[in-house]
Amino acid sequence: MPSTNFINGEWRDSIDGATDSVINPATGEAIGSVPSSGVADVDAAVTAAAKAFESWGRMTPRGRSEILHRVADAIEADLENLKRIEMENCGKPASMIEFEMDLTLDNWRFFAGGARFLEGRAGGEYLEEHTSYLRRDPLGVIGGIAPWNYPLNMATWKLGPALAAGNTVVLKPSELTPFSALRLAEITADILPPGVLNVVTGQGRTAGDALVRHPKVAMVSLTGSVETGKVIARTAAETLKRVHLELGGKAPVIIFDDADIEAAIACLVEMSYYNSGQDCTAPCRILAGPGIYDDFVSGLTDAVAGISTGDPFDEATGMGPVISANQLARVEGMVARAVEAGAELTIGGSSIDRPGFFYSPSVIAGPAQESEIVQREVFGPVVSVQRFTDEETALAWANDIDYGLSASVWTSDVGRAMRMTAALQFGCIWVNDHIPIVSEMPHGGFKQSGYGNDMSIYAIEHYTELKHVMIKH
Ligand code: NAD
Repeated sequence: MPSTNFINGEWRDSIDGATDSVINPATGEAIGSVPSSGVADVDAAVTAAAKAFESWGRMTPRGRSEILHRVADAIEADLENLKRIEMENCGKPASMIEFEMDLTLDNWRFFAGGARFLEGRAGGEYLEEHTSYLRRDPLGVIGGIAPWNYPLNMATWKLGPALAAGNTVVLKPSELTPFSALRLAEITADILPPGVLNVVTGQGRTAGDALVRHPKVAMVSLTGSVETGKVIARTAAETLKRVHLELGGKAPVIIFDDADIEAAIACLVEMSYYNSGQDCTAPCRILAGPGIYDDFVSGLTDAVAGISTGDPFDEATGMGPVISANQLARVEGMVARAVEAGAELTIGGSSIDRPGFFYSPSVIAGPAQESEIVQREVFGPVVSVQRFTDEETALAWANDIDYGLSASVWTSDVGRAMRMTAALQFGCIWVNDHIPIVSEMPHGGFKQSGYGNDMSIYAIEHYTELKHVMIKH
């Protein structure tokens, strides 16, 4: 497994030799170390990316597309290895890694094709004796900053559209989960020209910050927390570079009395605890109708009792650990404060006594709308359930939050589904389902969940600038 920076097609230690160790969250033990990069390492990577942009940015879309298809082929050929890296570095159970890697591969294939489909309006004569036309040009060097919850998939959401549009990239993976990005660099080293993809590992406040400040970086694309998004937007303002922010979420799940409750429980018991709840779209804030609330809470509690936690490499394991000791402490603290504030814990509510960072899948019933457990992202295996009285209250509570990433509505009334989807302030809304996503459709947020879209042709457009060319004749 590679464990140094990948810059200009070469493997390099950090210039000052500093390293960070990387932990397996299922054991709490170190599985390796990577460079803790600084300003000079980032500068070397950006310089390489700027040089590579001179030819990559001018390549025909077909040329880039063919290369990106080969990247997808390389990922497919290495899939078992990449799965093992994610399982070991993130504690992802064998039973759930398939979907994530299948999406990653499909994302690459989509972006490879999308390189050839950038669009603009037709040209014309809008001033006499002048013809105008539009170009969509790449921006230059993109600084991609990724989180730890889906390391390779989130890196893909930065790399795919950026490279398809003709940009080059310096990617900084999370300091907690750097290995799959480095493996991607390794398996594509003979496919992508040197400098097109550079991977620099390290801490956010050093390596990440250097990338955001670098004057030759045209745009920073972050997937991460709201707090980091605000810091990056502020720092990027100094050079007025563009910012693409995919941030946190706190998805409401509105279940009306006329919904198929069994289907809702079957979906939530899987999706709320998927990836140990460390998912920005996790259905974690349930609003249940007055007629079904009691049955729903007891049905969900019974279903959650059946989730098995344990060794990610055991096929029977349904849920693995959370990512770190810090994350475990965060979850413990938020659940304890919710109970202190008067909510009822119907199941779970404690860390699990074994090595690594395991927390029991939990359900919290009846918290107040203004409470922390309702208003703030937990990013752990915890859902809250509130009882609403009518459609108006459900809508008001759902929208009464700083985040705006995703939501779902469960009802058999089509008119109600239409009203709700129009009024909910979230970037992705499911009706009678929660979580499926597809490469063709955009993923992005309202409000403090950020701006810009991942996936879809809109993501590729976001890594371009429109240029108006006017010819006098
Ligand atoms: P984080 O914000 O702590 O870190 C994200 C990345 O930013 C890491 O690589 C980190 O090193 C870097 N970083 C931190 N501080 C920085 C700084 N000052 N300058 C530059 N870079 C910096 O987030 P995380 O804990 O890794 O990931 C979890 C968060 O990501 C959650 O809030 C989750 O909701 C969000 N997320 C959002 C989406 C989405 O699509 N909207 C998807 C996945 C995760």
